[in-house]
Amino acid sequence: MSNIVTKFKSVIYNVPENVKLIVISKTKSADDIMQVYRCGHRIFGESKVQELMPKNEELPKDIQWHLVGHLQRNKVKYIAPFISMIHSVDSLRLLKEINKEAKKNDRIINCLLQMHIAEEETKFGLDQDELNELIKSESFKSLKNINICGLMGMATFTEDTKQVKHEFSNLYKIFISTKERYFSQSPNFKELSMGMTSDYETAIEEGSTMVRVGTAIFGER
Ligand SMILES: *Cc1c(COP(=O)(O)O)cnc(C)c1O
Repeated sequence: MSNIVTKFKSVIYNVPENVKLIVISKTKSADDIMQVYRCGHRIFGESKVQELMPKNEELPKDIQWHLVGHLQRNKVKYIAPFISMIHSVDSLRLLKEINKEAKKNDRIINCLLQMHIAEEETKFGLDQDELNELIKSESFKSLKNINICGLMGMATFTEDTKQVKHEFSNLYKIFISTKERYFSQSPNFKELSMGMTSDYETAIEEGSTMVRVGTAIFGER
């Protein structure tokens, strides 16, 4: 077995059946991706539109591509025809653009709202007030070509497991309260995307339903 296949199998072993593994393939070659694909895996994630486009062209059509990185509005049109889920929605303006392009393609696009839970100021995402404001706005309610599937967040990059655990547990609470408050009639609001190579096991303990793992499978970038 190749190194990638061995590592993929050990990650999959750590991920319970009710949690989806998004294999993050950014900077990795089509060959590397195909090794995981041949194990039967179909869900892959990229963080840049310009990298995702040629991979989508080249690789098998039954791959479900997730976009996990920051998305600019002017790039939405490129991915709208095929993207399976966008994890990084952090404004109403972006959501409106996704809705517009989804409509043009006669699609409904799955989206997660990205929350800012980390200490670092550089990470994108909404705070609790911005989330409430977005969901309560009239224009949000009128968007028919997007499907809000849940929330996404990234913990602080730190060795301090207690802090990471606390941030994930906080995001889980926001997820549950948002679901109860606004999405109790929407069974589609059920995903909580949290956890990467360094913290996915902690994230699963704290209620993650989707982990985004790259380095643990493909090695360092
Ligand atoms: C790169 C990336 C990941 C995967 O990170 P690893 O540490 O390689 O597992 C997950 N989520 C996002 C948003 C990323 O940009």
